Amino acid sequence: MPVPLPTATTRWRCTLCGNLTRFDVTRSSRVVEYVHLDLAGEPAVEETEVLAETLESVRCRWCNAVDRIELVDRPGAGAAAEGANGSAESATGSGSASG
Ligand SMILES: [Zn+2]
Repeated sequence: MPVPLPTATTRWRCTLCGNLTRFDVTRSSRVVEYVHLDLAGEPAVEETEVLAETLESVRCRWCNAVDRIELVDRPGAGAAAEGANGSAESATGSGSASG
């Protein structure tokens, strides 16, 4: 059974124990790394370009079930405002000013 990929509105759920948040993901990827060496010869990867990526298996951290994953809707499905790092907090004035 292939592992379904989560989308912007769905997420993984372990079908055995209901885990939603913790998985060991085995992934094989083919990447190009920009390796920048300093004068002492110490390398540092400064850029990584992913050429191909394959999801091989997903194991549940809670019950160790492998590839027993289904897709369920995310709790806030519909509000497609992901990626932008703007935290919009509604400031409702419900504070009591005691003096
Ligand atoms: Zn599980």
